[in-house]
Amino acid sequence: MGFETITFKDLERIGLNKRFDKRYIMLTFDDGYQDNYDLLLPLLEKYQFKATIYVVTGENHNRWDHAVLDNPDKRFELLDIDSLKKLAQSPLIEIGGHTLTHPRLNQLTEDQQREEIISNKERLEEIINQPVTTFAYPYGDHNEVSKKIVSEAGYQYTVATNSGPKAIHEDLNQIRRIAIFPKTDTFGLWRKIRGNYTFRKK
Ligand SMILES: [Zn+2]
Repeated sequence: MGFETITFKDLERIGLNKRFDKRYIMLTFDDGYQDNYDLLLPLLEKYQFKATIYVVTGENHNRWDHAVLDNPDKRFELLDIDSLKKLAQSPLIEIGGHTLTHPRLNQLTEDQQREEIISNKERLEEIINQPVTTFAYPYGDHNEVSKKIVSEAGYQYTVATNSGPKAIHEDLNQIRRIAIFPKTDTFGLWRKIRGNYTFRKK
């Protein structure tokens, strides 16, 4: 379909408030699983695609899904330090923040939100030795306090899930994403990325 994959760092060069001269797409992967290093990186290298990976730093597996009593998800390991460093060194990858423990931020106090957001950012920057300027709200859940904190923390681009304005530049603290699921087939993928999906869907 002629897309060029980019990360948020590329937006400095490309700019936002204009008509794009190319079809750009951003691939984002949440939580920072070990298989992002083992499986995703080789695929990105094969196709020369870029991606942004949002990393949780205060857990070693998906405890927030795995420890759910009524319908626990399978256990997946999060990235070890060495793999995270290697991912961050790839020119195809940008690392973003995703909190310490993957809470629903809108259910926390302001102090708790600040701890989750800022300690995660500091830890990531210490590990990868680069500024981290993009963040993803776990589950997409957030409130006005979360938006204020990410902005104060120095995050330039914060992504939600299926909330936020339709155009990226309209709210850089609540950038809408389109979810692609294992069940999304080729037609579903085409429909979602052809360009007018968020404008057409009901
Ligand atoms: Zn997540």
